[in-house]
Amino acid sequence: MNFDLTPEQDQLRDAVRALGRRYGHSYFVGKAKSGGHTTELWDEAGRLGYLGVNVPTEYGGGGGGLTELAIVCEELAAAGCPLLLLVVSPAIAATVIHKHGTEEQRKRFLPGFADGSLKVVFAITEPEAGSNFHRLGTVARRDGDDWLLSGRKCYISGVDEAQYVLVVARTEDSATGKLKPALFLVPTDAAGLTRSKLDMEIVSPENQFLLYLDDVRLPADALVGGSLDAGLPALFAGLNPERITVAAMGVGTGRYAIERATDYTATRRVWGGRSIGAHQGVAHPLAHAAVQVELARLMIHKAATLYDAGRDLEAGVAGNMAKYAAGEAAALAVDTAVQALGGAGMTTEYGVATLLGAVRAGRIAPVSREMILNFVAQHVLGQEKSY
Ligand SMILES: Cc1cc2nc3c(=O)[nH]c(=O)nc-3n(C[C@H](O)[C@H](O)[C@H](O)COP(=O)(O)OP(=O)(O)OC[C@H]3O[C@@H](n4cnc5c(N)ncnc54)[C@H](O)[C@@H]3O)c2cc1C
Repeated sequence: MNFDLTPEQDQLRDAVRALGRRYGHSYFVGKAKSGGHTTELWDEAGRLGYLGVNVPTEYGGGGGGLTELAIVCEELAAAGCPLLLLVVSPAIAATVIHKHGTEEQRKRFLPGFADGSLKVVFAITEPEAGSNFHRLGTVARRDGDDWLLSGRKCYISGVDEAQYVLVVARTEDSATGKLKPALFLVPTDAAGLTRSKLDMEIVSPENQFLLYLDDVRLPADALVGGSLDAGLPALFAGLNPERITVAAMGVGTGRYAIERATDYTATRRVWGGRSIGAHQGVAHPLAHAAVQVELARLMIHKAATLYDAGRDLEAGVAGNMAKYAAGEAAALAVDTAVQALGGAGMTTEYGVATLLGAVRAGRIAPVSREMILNFVAQHVLGQEKSY
């Protein structure tokens, strides 16, 4: 058992931490409140190779694994910049294309993931299907060599920043019953693809959208893997990276909140000599949150290590557990930090309450805590499925 990062991973952690701190939470919030995007941070991280750490070297990436990408997600979040697009673009989309794309798709897309110049977002959720993706209603039908896609997607993050959206559809001949998914790379400016921005109670420069696909015409090579048989494995390939990186973002956010709070409670004095942090009513909840964050962090380390060793099934269990633990720990840490800061906790200036919406959403998306508990109940505890 080894709890240490390699020297290279340590260097990566330090370097990403330094970059994140140069931008910081006030940059992130400023962009969110002005309707901007964190383009400067994204581009710089891309130039430095941090967004492409998990892309193979032959396509210009860092040749690392999910452990490295999780480090990038965690450290940017720990600096107050939790970038959801890291989860959808380098973690989900790049992995899907790397593992299940055709060689032509790999050559075309992976270099852009490697330097961050390409952003691909991910669209599976639909209004009617919700957590039950077997009910997906977005249909792909053949028209000569082309495909025509029609359907609706909801809560899709970052469409306004991305060049492509990876759309999960089903083919016309399997329009009902057990899902045989097909994944398509759809340009965000494709004719027939329209979007409307959802108003979300989350302070974030990354937005969510409703997407409408109305006979979006795509060439044959838009189908990931070039074959309908590639769909299911391609969809599953994105799940572990998604869970592990979103968990890393949660842990980073929890660390950030606890650091803000403990800096404050160690120096604020309202009863004469002692700081408010000397009172156990203030310190213990923070210590409890720190324990939960560290436990989640360990589980992420385990999940990423298993994934990078090619042990996908075990990584699936650990990744789901890590996502659950990190979602709960992040929500607890931010709420506890707000309380410890008192009134300052609710100000924009102290930069903690600004994360309340994001960590609350982290218990719902990209997979809800209940669906993870279902997974653990069925696959770890051997319980019958209720749905
Ligand atoms: C900020 C944010 C960003 C997102 N970004 C994306 C994105 O980029 N791409 C994308 O495709 N989707 C995205 N989503 C959608 C997200 O993945 C879904 O919201 C999530 O999977 C839950 O689906 P739903 O909202 O339809 O909830 P529903 O499925 O309607 O569920 C509602 C509630 O019922 C519970 N529930 C449902 N079924 C069961 C069951 N069998 N047992 C127990 N409880 C159950 C759920 O856990 C949840 O609490 C995003 C969502 C948010 C909030």
